[in-house]
Order: sequence, then structure tokens, then C-alpha cells
Amino acid sequence: MPQESSSNVDIFNLLSDSGDKAKKQQREELLAATGVKEFFAEGTISIDKRTCWGIECKLCIKACPTNALYWKTGEVGITEDLCVYCGACVLSCMVDDCIKVKRKREDGTTEKFSKPRDLISLENRINAKKRVERVKEVFPTAEAYCERYKRKKQ
Ligand code: SF4
Ligand code: SF4
Repeated sequence: MPQESSSNVDIFNLLSDSGDKAKKQQREELLAATGVKEFFAEGTISIDKRTCWGIECKLCIKACPTNALYWKTGEVGITEDLCVYCGACVLSCMVDDCIKVKRKREDGTTEKFSKPRDLISLENRINAKKRVERVKEVFPTAEAYCERYKRKKQ
């Protein structure tokens, strides 16, 4: 059986890397025109055509900040390269589990939601975590907090 040479593997990896870079650059250019910044490293979005209200609704299309959603013959279309996985479409959709978004943060954390209430509680949890981190920056320990509090009372 012929052995695979390491140079073949390298060429394959190089081609795949340059393809990813070109795709990333194209995505950056498309998003720059919308003025919306990207916050997630990766993501996926899908719409369940069986439960979508389609032409009678189109609320998600109106809510999308990047025009990733559009009306194509008989259904909502998605331009994945324009999606920043913000969830505005999920928040505006009246059908639970119709739009499904999965996204990955730079730190590797994966989040998925398909109902407005899921996204709202996710955002609340993230904001609460950020508040705790900000407090920790000012008061790294309980003693630091007590010290500041004591000084204020004097
Ligand atoms: S998550 Fe929805 S609203 Fe946000 S960019 Fe993607 S398609 Fe548009
Ligand atoms: S908001 Fe939901 S139900 Fe309405 S068109 Fe979009 S996906 Fe369909």
C-alpha cells in the first residue's frame, strides 16, 4: 500500500488554511459594511421551515441587524456569512424553537438558544458574571471591601 508523504499532508493543510483565511476576510468585509462587530468565534443558525409562519410574519428579517435574513421564494433565507449570532431574530420570533442559534465564544464557551426566554436568562447570567468580575477588580478580597467601607464610615 502506498505511504502518504508528509509533504502531501502539508499541502492539504496549507490549502485548507488559505481557504479559511479568504473566507474570514470575505466575512470581515461583508460585516464592515453593516457596521456590526463580530463577538463570537464560531456559530450556526437554522430555521425550522415546518413551524415558521413565513410570509405572514417576517419579524426576524426586520430584527436582523446585518441583513443575514432575507425573504426568498416562499421562505426565510439565511446568509450565514453575515450572521453574527446576536440572537435578535430569536428574541423577535413568536414560535419557540423555530430559530436555533449555537455560538462559541473566544474562550471556548458554547451557548445555544431557540427561545426568547432562554436568551434573556443567558444574557442576565453573563451580565451578572461581568458585574462580579468588575467588583473583584475593585475589591479583590472581602478584607479590601471592609477596609474601604470602614474608611467611608469614619
Ligand atoms: S442571530 Fe439572527 S438577528 Fe443576529 S445576525 Fe444572525 S440572523 Fe441576524
Ligand atoms: S420570526 Fe419566526 S415565525 Fe416569523 S418569519 Fe421569522 S422564523 Fe418564521
